[in-house]
Amino acid sequence: MSLHFPFDNTYARLPEGFFSAQSPTPVSSPDLIAYNQPLADLLGIGRADPGELAEIFAGNRVPEGAEPLAQLYSGHQFGQYNPQLGDGRAVLLGEIVGSDGIRRDIQLKGAGRTPYSRGGDGRAWLGPVLREYIVSEAMHALGIPTTRALAAVSTGEPVYRERVLPGAVLTRVAKSHLRVGTFQVFAARGELDRLRQLTQYAIDRHYPDAEGAMGLLAAVRDAQAQLVAQWMAVGFIHGVMNTDNCAISGETIDYGPCAFLDTYHPQTVFSSIDQFGRYAYGQQPEIAAWNIAQLATALIQQMEDPQAAVGEATEIVHAMPDLVRDHWSRLFRAKIGLGTAEPDDLELIADLLRLLATDKADFTNTFRGLATGTARDQLTDMAAFDAWEARWQARLDREVAPLARIRSANPAFIPRNHRIEEAISAALEADFAPFERLMAVLAHPYDDQPHAQDLAAPPTADEVVQATFC
Ligand code: AMP
Ligand code: MG
Ligand code: MG
Repeated sequence: MSLHFPFDNTYARLPEGFFSAQSPTPVSSPDLIAYNQPLADLLGIGRADPGELAEIFAGNRVPEGAEPLAQLYSGHQFGQYNPQLGDGRAVLLGEIVGSDGIRRDIQLKGAGRTPYSRGGDGRAWLGPVLREYIVSEAMHALGIPTTRALAAVSTGEPVYRERVLPGAVLTRVAKSHLRVGTFQVFAARGELDRLRQLTQYAIDRHYPDAEGAMGLLAAVRDAQAQLVAQWMAVGFIHGVMNTDNCAISGETIDYGPCAFLDTYHPQTVFSSIDQFGRYAYGQQPEIAAWNIAQLATALIQQMEDPQAAVGEATEIVHAMPDLVRDHWSRLFRAKIGLGTAEPDDLELIADLLRLLATDKADFTNTFRGLATGTARDQLTDMAAFDAWEARWQARLDREVAPLARIRSANPAFIPRNHRIEEAISAALEADFAPFERLMAVLAHPYDDQPHAQDLAAPPTADEVVQATFC
């Protein structure tokens, strides 16, 4: 038995200036933590024993056909333009077209220093690697476009953060790693040939029906509008919606200090680095549109007459809030069981959200509880809920099979912060059982899993996680 990677690389074929050839830096004693066999099967990667898997996914052995490289990009970080970022700790091994016909990048994250590392060590520690593994796979199971996790390995080497921590490498699989920031770097440098090449590459790879730069802009806008609405519907807070973390493919990318809401409040922030709440839960639709505006600014540079293109680009960007609202409305209507649209529906949804916010109710369990009869238990102002429920019931009379709709629109299980932290703490003591249990339960988020009710419970006062770190 041996691993076989059916690489078919295209990014490595781009001319000079898009990336730096960069091999992963070997580590002292790689050990396999997790391997996503169904994803490996989709990619057509063969089977192998854990030792061989660890060697490859730690970067110690570069598989045949790989052309390892670090990609160049820039981006706005918390609204400030940083002219050069790039893969500072990630190495793209290559691309594989899966049995579903989709081309995907295979990338090692935490694989050592690259020309874009700046002051960084090129490494990752176990905590964020496990968080990304858990949350990205949970997002996939929730039906939300996302990068995937193929493997996690520990390196046997220390990583120095606020304290000494065990190093790890995550193998990330993505439809591509093209970001808004990939376009920004060439636009900002006035490298218009590269900007044009990149635009064509992105169209060919992701949106073959898009016409030209403005077609691409509209397509990315549509994908991002749907994505951010889906985040809102499950209470996901990305945490670092910088333009370099905004994927052209429309997948959720870069799980740093991300978190799911427990109690509902639009201003919720977990990220330890988000001092001013720029990336708070309720800000996300606006930020997504801001990121698309940055993409527009970059893309129009390549037009024959950029000034003349401003009007069209502006129109495309300005349509985004309505698109988000349409997705949001459809998703939240489904959350309360509505498959049809009536004029008062949005008020009904808004009133429930207001109740959740005042009562600091659990977001996930209240919505799920609308199907199971336990929503009322999540709230403190029972009279207010009862009044809302009477209006809601009257509205449900005009729906077919609303309870099934509620179940399929509202997960019973989300990766709750305190459970992720618990899995990480146990892993630091070499106990991976909580991680594995979490993964197994989160693979079926819409199923009632009576054996796992503890994982559906919100945190107790002393379990609440106040801040997440990357
Ligand atoms: P992020 O906040 O994860 O989107 O990362 C922003 C930039 O910092 C990217 O260019 C990363 O590659 C880089 N970076 C993050 N952590 C490290 C690290 N430990 N070593 C080198 N570069 C890093
Ligand atoms: Mg990033
Ligand atoms: Mg990151």
